[in-house]
Amino acid sequence: MSRHRLVQPQNFKSSEFRIRAPKKIQQESSNHKNVYPTHLSASSQQENKQENNEFEHDYYEFEQDYREFEQNHEFEQDQEFKQNYQEFEWNHEFEQEHQEFEQNYEFEQNYQEFERNYEFEQDYESDSDFIINNDPKTFDGKKNFFSNENNSEFGPFNSFTIMAFFLWITKHMISTAAYQDLIQILKHPLFKVNELCSNLQKLKNYRQKLPLMEIQSHMVPVNIHKTPSTSKETTRAYYFSLIEHLKRILQNPSINSKLYFGPGIYDEACEEFWHGNLWAESPLFGQSKIVTERGNFVCGDFIRYYTSNHNIKYGQIRSFIMVKGILKAQIQQLLSFDEIPLHFKSQDRLMNASKKLWMLEETILPIIDIINIIDHCVIWLEDNILPSYFNFSIAEIIYKFNNRWKIRSINLRHQHPIEHLQLQEPPSGIPILKFFLDFYYDDFGTFRSTYHSLGGVYLQIGNMPQKLRKQLQNHFIIGLVPFGANIRDFIKPFLEEIHQLEHGFIITINNKKYWLTGGLGIITADLPQGNDIAGILRHNAKHGCRSCYAAKEDLTNISFDTILNGRYHQITNIQFKEIQELNSNNIRTQRSTELGLRDLGPLDPYIHNRHLHIPQDPYHAVAGKVARFLECTCSILTSQGESSIIQYWKAFETPRKWARLPNPIKHRHSFMMSDVLRLLMILPFILQRCLHSGTIKSEYLTATKERLSLPHQNSVIKKLVKTWALVAKASKEVFSNIILRSEYYDNLTQALNNEHHALLEMFPASFENLPNLHINRHLVDHARNYGTCINMSVGIKEMVHRIFKGIVPHTNKHNLELILLQQINTFQTLRYLANGGLDDQGQQSTIFAKIMADPKLKVLLSGWYIKNHNLSIHSNEEESLDDVDNDKNSGYTSLITNMTLIRCSDICLRSKWCLPDIEAAGFISPNLHKNGLLGDIMQVYSSYYSMDQALLSTHIHFYNSASYTIQKDKDDYQKIEVHVGDVVEIALVENASGFASVDAIIKHRGNDKQDYVFIYITWFEDISRQDELLLCPIYQLQKNTNHSWYRIHPISTVKFTSGVSFVHNCDSRCTVDHHETSNFKYIQNNFLFTAI
Ligand SMILES: [Zn+2]
Ligand SMILES: [Zn+2]
Repeated sequence: MSRHRLVQPQNFKSSEFRIRAPKKIQQESSNHKNVYPTHLSASSQQENKQENNEFEHDYYEFEQDYREFEQNHEFEQDQEFKQNYQEFEWNHEFEQEHQEFEQNYEFEQNYQEFERNYEFEQDYESDSDFIINNDPKTFDGKKNFFSNENNSEFGPFNSFTIMAFFLWITKHMISTAAYQDLIQILKHPLFKVNELCSNLQKLKNYRQKLPLMEIQSHMVPVNIHKTPSTSKETTRAYYFSLIEHLKRILQNPSINSKLYFGPGIYDEACEEFWHGNLWAESPLFGQSKIVTERGNFVCGDFIRYYTSNHNIKYGQIRSFIMVKGILKAQIQQLLSFDEIPLHFKSQDRLMNASKKLWMLEETILPIIDIINIIDHCVIWLEDNILPSYFNFSIAEIIYKFNNRWKIRSINLRHQHPIEHLQLQEPPSGIPILKFFLDFYYDDFGTFRSTYHSLGGVYLQIGNMPQKLRKQLQNHFIIGLVPFGANIRDFIKPFLEEIHQLEHGFIITINNKKYWLTGGLGIITADLPQGNDIAGILRHNAKHGCRSCYAAKEDLTNISFDTILNGRYHQITNIQFKEIQELNSNNIRTQRSTELGLRDLGPLDPYIHNRHLHIPQDPYHAVAGKVARFLECTCSILTSQGESSIIQYWKAFETPRKWARLPNPIKHRHSFMMSDVLRLLMILPFILQRCLHSGTIKSEYLTATKERLSLPHQNSVIKKLVKTWALVAKASKEVFSNIILRSEYYDNLTQALNNEHHALLEMFPASFENLPNLHINRHLVDHARNYGTCINMSVGIKEMVHRIFKGIVPHTNKHNLELILLQQINTFQTLRYLANGGLDDQGQQSTIFAKIMADPKLKVLLSGWYIKNHNLSIHSNEEESLDDVDNDKNSGYTSLITNMTLIRCSDICLRSKWCLPDIEAAGFISPNLHKNGLLGDIMQVYSSYYSMDQALLSTHIHFYNSASYTIQKDKDDYQKIEVHVGDVVEIALVENASGFASVDAIIKHRGNDKQDYVFIYITWFEDISRQDELLLCPIYQLQKNTNHSWYRIHPISTVKFTSGVSFVHNCDSRCTVDHHETSNFKYIQNNFLFTAI
């Protein structure tokens, strides 16, 4: 996509904003080389989008049809045809799946783009004289259909070329994107027809010449009961080497510069894995050792230290962490008898109290300066072997549960990683790279239980910032578990490499030596598979929680102590051993059931703490919970209630960028998880509008009213709405991608507890002992370990896996896994080359340098699996550099320097209003005077641009939408898209901001002959009230008669457009689709979040 750059003031508060010219004019008026795509690739997206929508709705059906079709073609003799067909299908499907992924994932952006493109097209059509008559033509035998005005021998086609292409695109269903790419190639000056390779296979063979990664293989046993009768007992499994992957990543300059290797970081804002406890504490990832004048200290060591008021205390070093750039130590306090809470001071504990300490478990640990560490002390944790000498022993842990101090035995603890990890000392003087691996396993089977079922094993790198981890191209595949094979067998070579990695070894990258080490940091999988990997029975077992021993009947019992009854790795190890040593199958099964254990998971022993490293996936946990709540809510609706919800839902002010959801009542069973979460964000508002006693079954109202001793049936309805609000609020907290450490964990705890109670009150039968609700109780601890909940969520990973799943049924080939890996290998290798990857000698690849520098061809390397913008094969950084160059070359340099503009790409205006549009929007004419806006505009010029002269031109243009890109941080580009009718967040002075509705987008030519773009807005005034049921703030829309707030501002003052949504605070005068205009109150929808 070509970018239109420009314009952003140095400090981005209420900044200036001018433009060269809107994109269209620019295109026409210059033969600037960046003429390419906007409207062209535009239409492709539109088309794909439509395809996709249809596709999604008919998904299951489509598949069936396809299979039939496939069967019918099975006997096809012409191999080549078949192959071609499959390839076509493959690509086609691939694209669709990808689109689907994108739709959910990159949803807003794409949708915006789609909209923009769509509008641009309309614009384009009406502007040009090339107006197409879209009426369907019918051949009635009378019209002179076979002749044409051009008298061309090709009938209605102007030439052979046009005709041939028309036939070709129709026959092969060529997508617009594919067509545009082809046109770019054909029109390129370097393109020569005589160089074309006429044999497709030959062309494809060029992939062999790429520096591909090696696809390795090994034989694995297959379960013959699961596979067709013809299958053999073993099959070949293909995989990529873990260490190869890591090497590639290190040799890719656009990734390696963004990886973080180092100690855990303690920041107020918490976003990455290295902000969590686990990274900091484990010597596999964080810093484990410091050298001081008083000796060496290793994390896990027991020490004496000075507190801030110079008392000497005992403690254990949990971790070394960076606090504002300074390395400090995080301490677990050890208490003496005098210091423990009064009610624990029993006679027993007093015995030998001088030789005893108590471990204090806190959620926020004290952090001390390294200089305050005094010396070592020897402490015997009494569940360990008795040492020959010790200063103190510890037998108990003091901890807080449900806000009360409690005490438990020392063996019930998550051991410090140092207790079970013996790592090799790295050689000195070599930089150390510790990789934090995020292992994701998804079983194809849940979706498609038949022949083509395959498990996917993926790898993500926790050293990448979240922004990169989200990108499709940064999900690396290890391999696909062949159908019928066991992950245990498949994973063996991978585990050998993990072993190697944990041990550490020297690697040479770009002629420099590094010590490469690390290990499995987190295992992500959906809920049942996560339990399998942890070696725990599934959720429906008596003890099916992988974090604690809660029995089925205690799952939602809030007083059940999940810490005292927690699962601890070292204890589970003993239990596994105990079961193994039992000598009868029956007894073994019985004991396993009692403990809720299966057998050792496939990744043992490289998961160093199976109860911490395999957190429950929040995505499935939350979506499942919400789906159940939706089901419950629907079950109590009367038929009047159902139709009322549908009516209100249809008329609801759904955020503009959302695609339409399937009908929440009729189609809720086919909802995807992302649909359920979307619905959650708006349903509280819809229910508040439409629920009354006639919409809910009276049995439920009566029973609930009595059960909860509520005064009226109406209170039941209110409670239901509030419960939806509480669930939405809790879910939003869970899916925050960046959090504030000081408040987040407490807020999350609170929100989850509120949700828990509310759900149990409304639908006790459905929510009591629901495993998904039980997970609430472990989420906060996991979030502390991994920084945020979103870091352990599989939402995006599942989308990526679906792309592969989509390919599966559309190949008949025997070596399905191999073919998939080859395809991915080619993608990743092209990406690697495009990123300027290095070879083993440190040589940088330059083969795509030309393409990357050529704006016309660059598009060839984007727009696929490796997609533009967020999913780009280019890093955003590179893109911006390219742009700067382009601007220099095309004569805009002076403009840039004059305006001191940085960090912003230029603006694109679309859908110009004609007079009827202007009048319909309540304005008078394209003239400042007549609209009475002259004074306002002059005011803006004066306050934002310090231009105080009278304006030379009073002519203005109105537009329906505008888009531009701003750079917020170094690598953080944000595309802003403003539409008339949007509610946007506007930056005010001193970091304050406000919300406003955009009424018009105005372009004016300033006295300096440059174009300026403004928005005409209506402000929302914060009236410091909140809706008592929805817990969202209420705002008042600025009245037309109120001129105390300026309504015209530079468009650059817009901070956010997505995630801002206001809905009318309806009163009794409102109906389903008509809102009372004299009611100026609006509620801010505070529940919007992005789960994937
Ligand atoms: Zn549990
Ligand atoms: Zn209303």
